[in-house]
Amino acid sequence: MPHVVTQACCADASCVHACPVNCIHPTPDEPDFATAEMLYIDPDVCVDCGACVGACPVGAIVPDDRLTPGEQVFLDLNAVLSTPSRPYPPQAPVPPIRRLERDRGRAGHPLRVAIVGAGPAALYTADELLRQSGVEVTVFDRLPVPHGLARHGVAPDHARTRSVTDLFTLIENQSGFTYRLGVEIGRDLGVGDLAAHHDAVVYATGASTDRPLDIPGTGLPGSMSATQVVSWYNGHPDHVDARVPLDHERAVIVGNGNVALDVARILATPAEALAGSDISPVALEALRSSRVREIVVLGRRGPAQAAFTLPELVGLASRDDIDLRVEAPGGIDPRAATDRQRSLMLE
Ligand SMILES: Cc1cc2nc3c(=O)[nH]c(=O)nc-3n(C[C@H](O)[C@H](O)[C@H](O)COP(=O)(O)OP(=O)(O)OC[C@H]3O[C@@H](n4cnc5c(N)ncnc54)[C@H](O)[C@@H]3O)c2cc1C
Ligand code: SF4
Ligand code: SF4
Repeated sequence: MPHVVTQACCADASCVHACPVNCIHPTPDEPDFATAEMLYIDPDVCVDCGACVGACPVGAIVPDDRLTPGEQVFLDLNAVLSTPSRPYPPQAPVPPIRRLERDRGRAGHPLRVAIVGAGPAALYTADELLRQSGVEVTVFDRLPVPHGLARHGVAPDHARTRSVTDLFTLIENQSGFTYRLGVEIGRDLGVGDLAAHHDAVVYATGASTDRPLDIPGTGLPGSMSATQVVSWYNGHPDHVDARVPLDHERAVIVGNGNVALDVARILATPAEALAGSDISPVALEALRSSRVREIVVLGRRGPAQAAFTLPELVGLASRDDIDLRVEAPGGIDPRAATDRQRSLMLE
């Protein structure tokens, strides 16, 4: 009865060191860690102790007898990914935490650090800094609410992934942490102002803009960027008034990343099933009268080259209420099965 890594896994390896029998792979010192889309638990080695469950910031590890029907596919997937089994070297080494070099010449006041942006990168930075004594951190964000794309990017129906904000709350509650929200650096305050009042400034401003396709017609009515659609259904203040065209039966999504799958899934999910999620009330109301019945996700190349990750695709494929079809030139060759192709076969 093993534990199982499920869809929300973001491959940060927090669980690896919690496991007493080293059966969560790839570990950060294994060569395939850098390209891993999710980690997995070897069911033949797991002793079902549960130590990894609390170590996961997004609740992605579940005992196999508590998997929901939609998550059952991850039991097979963890087993498939564990084949062939690996050698089990001693635990991966824990890197020592580097001591922050304090400016002793200016001692007498705490080390004051400004962090621009209040997304995950900012909060993990604040957490590391606040582990040192004598450090104060002020986190600035242009928006009135924190958490960056963990709030305004991650899909509203991905409750487990969004639960990473519980960890952020613990970080925010540490002594020495202060928010200055609704302050845009470059508009309300300059970098000189920050430098004058802090010993160090960290920029964690993310990547919030589109990369437009440089082809004619992308601005025609009915066409919009994923940034606009995602921000709209997540209630981002910059995009609450976006008009997402839902009055036709077919929607086309150009691109093959996880955001494409997020948008496809939100468009394909009945509004009543989204009602208990974090979706914006404005978007939910619009989706109630959506006429979209078919969503076409276009890719330049085949499934093996697509940029979406394995857990996202498996999560979509396991939905009974979505009829998923894959059309690939030349079909899918089981003898040359890549991870993604294997996931399609699991379906
Ligand atoms: C649609 C979408 C879905 C995603 N889904 C997942 C998922 O399921 N799982 C997962 O692990 N990851 C997901 N991600 C990725 C994840 O959200 C990002 O990797 C993560 O949020 C990046 O963190 P960050 O702190 O670098 O930047 P951001 O989260 O972008 O935070 C940057 C912050 O900086 C602020 N800022 C910018 N400029 C200024 C300024 N001049 N002054 C003050 N503040 C400023 C912004 O307002 C923002 O709050 C998704 C991303 C997107 C776009
Ligand atoms: S339940 Fe225990 S043995 Fe199994 S993966 Fe988690 S920590 Fe390792
Ligand atoms: S299962 Fe959880 S802790 Fe382990 S790598 Fe995935 S997200 Fe991180």
